[in-house]
Amino acid sequence: MIKNLSPSRASQFKTCPKQFKFANIDKIKEPTNEVQAKGTTVHEALEKIFDLPKEERNLENLHNLFRKVWTDVRASDEHVHLFNDQSEEREWGLDGLKLLSNYLTLENPALFDPLERERWVRGSIEDLNLRGILDRMDRNDKGELIIVDYKSGKAPNAKYKEPRFFALKLYALLIKNEIGETPAELKLIYLQNSTIHTMKVDEEMLRNAEKEILEIWNNIKVAFESNNFPTIKNTLCDWCYYKPICPEFNKNAPSTVELENCNEKIDEINETLEAINLVGGLDNLPDNSPLKNTNLDEINKNLEELNITKNKIVKDIEEFLRK
Ligand code: SF4
Repeated sequence: MIKNLSPSRASQFKTCPKQFKFANIDKIKEPTNEVQAKGTTVHEALEKIFDLPKEERNLENLHNLFRKVWTDVRASDEHVHLFNDQSEEREWGLDGLKLLSNYLTLENPALFDPLERERWVRGSIEDLNLRGILDRMDRNDKGELIIVDYKSGKAPNAKYKEPRFFALKLYALLIKNEIGETPAELKLIYLQNSTIHTMKVDEEMLRNAEKEILEIWNNIKVAFESNNFPTIKNTLCDWCYYKPICPEFNKNAPSTVELENCNEKIDEINETLEAINLVGGLDNLPDNSPLKNTNLDEINKNLEELNITKNKIVKDIEEFLRK
């Protein structure tokens, strides 16, 4: 059973429990694609621009930051195979720079300092541990808190904007619970088509967001208990990384049962090791602790074997997904 939930994981479960299972229980990691890499690089440039003195927060430096961030990560395992050739990478880079130019048509970073950037927010609601990272938090001229999120994609038509605020509503709720101040407004900055959507925060909105996330959490717990993560066919199936192994689309897809069992045992052993490390070793455990007689050599050996098996299954599934 997972211990924490982020707004994006919750949305993934809501959209398709099977996709949630592939990603979070079977832990079949979706490789970074060029859209994600662009989003991450743009986000980082937008974060770092505020490290510069106000008079240096201009287009040239924003573009330079994008180039620098990309230069630092492009050779990593995650990114090295993203492009077939230099011209593809160049096109991708130009798109990223365009998004940043679009940003400057919406805001002037030389005129303000954010209150916080890339801020961890976490908290408990009943038995749910909710956490995430918000892009930016500002104080406006009236001294009110504003929660800001950058989107590298395109803004929907304003009449469909509401569902896109789900994560930000939860961040507002966590901020309120953490610091005792309710943010006044949520702001989504869409870079693809230079659009800002905002939404005022009120107590009813936060109550509804809390109710919705608890409902999703309860559904996740039921799914875990019954080990039932149904597929929900939706408009995004064609972009789903797991489509080749999804039973909706491939009746002969490789089974993930062995992988699931492996992950469960690995999690169990890691929890035991964490608990022992937390007290500084076996000798510091009380005599009546159920972990006192743990054979560390044996469980470390088990862990090693399980990881070998798991990596082999993941490799086979990843090869299948790449076909
Ligand atoms: S292809 Fe569609 S139904 Fe299958 S896991 Fe992905 S989102 Fe769910």
